[in-house]
Amino acid sequence: MPNPYSLMIHGGAGALEDLKYEATEVEFKQSITAILEQGRARLERGDSALDVVEYCVTLLEDDKLYNAGCGSVLNADGKVEMDAALMNGSDLRAGAVACVPNIKNPISLARRVLDRGEHVLLASDGALEFAKFCGVELSPDEYFITEARIKQLAEAQVAGRMTLDHERIKPSQKLGTVGAVARDIRGNLAAATSTGGLVNKRWGRIGDTPIVGAGVFADNDTCAVSATGYGEQFLRTVFAKTISDFVQFRGMDAQAAAQAGIDYLVAKVNGEGGAIAIDAAGRCAAAQSTSGLIRGWIELGGETHCQLG
Ligand code: ASP
Repeated sequence: MPNPYSLMIHGGAGALEDLKYEATEVEFKQSITAILEQGRARLERGDSALDVVEYCVTLLEDDKLYNAGCGSVLNADGKVEMDAALMNGSDLRAGAVACVPNIKNPISLARRVLDRGEHVLLASDGALEFAKFCGVELSPDEYFITEARIKQLAEAQVAGRMTLDHERIKPSQKLGTVGAVARDIRGNLAAATSTGGLVNKRWGRIGDTPIVGAGVFADNDTCAVSATGYGEQFLRTVFAKTISDFVQFRGMDAQAAAQAGIDYLVAKVNGEGGAIAIDAAGRCAAAQSTSGLIRGWIELGGETHCQLG
C-alpha cells in the first residue's frame, strides 16, 4: 500500500477581516479548493511532490486573485518584477528566478533552472534570456498590468508606503503571494513559492521568495515550507530553514515548528506574515502573525480543507 499523500497551498498573508463580508471570500475558497483537487488527482496517480507543487503554483499564478503571475503587484515604476523558487526534498535540488518581467509562469522557469542543475538562482535579464533559450512562455505587459493594480500602486504611493498585497489600505485589496508544499506517495517532500513582491517596492528589489531557506525550503528529513509576508524580515531570519531546523534539532512536528518559526520571526524582527508546512509524516501545518492567511490542505489523503483567517 503506497504512502498517503499530503498537499497544502496558500494565497498569501495579510489583513483579511473584511473578506467575510464580500463575494471575494467565496472566490478564494472556490479557487483554493479547485486547485487542491487538481493537485490531489496528480498525487493519487503517482506524480512527484516536485511536479505537483510546480503545477499547483502555475494554477495560482494563472488566477488574478493572487499576487503572482498574471495578478502580480506593481513596483514603484509601475512595472511587474516577479520572484519564484522551488525545492526538492529528496536531494535538496532547487531552482529560482528573481526580478523577472514578462514570464507567464515564473515557477516553471524556476523549474527549468532546477532541472538544468548548473545554477540555483537566475535574475533579471539573464533569467529572461534563459527563458527564451528554454522556450518558456512569455506574456506582454498588458497581461500583467491591470487597472486595479495601477490603482493599488497609486494608493500606496499617496500613503508613502511599501505594502503587502493584502494590506488594508482599502478593503478591496486582499490578494497575495502563493505557495505549495507536498508529500507524494513515495514520501518525498517539495515546496514552491511565487510572488510579484511588495506593492511600490524599489525596482531591482528581491524578496525572500526566491531565496532558498528564506521563502522556500524542503528536506525529506524534516519538512517542506512556503512563506509569505514582508520579505526583508523573512530574509533576515532565514525563516523557512529555521522552521526546518526546529524539526531537525528540536524534534518538533510541522505545526509546532511552524508556530516556533513565527514566534521567532515576531520576537526577532517583529515580522508580519505566515507559512505553510508539511513534515515527513505528512502532517499539514500553518502559522501566521497576520490576521489572515489564505490556505487549503489535504492531509494524508483525507478531505479538502480551506481556511482564510
Ligand atoms: N514575501 C513576498 C515578498 O516580500 C511578499 C508576500 O509574501 O506577499 O516579496
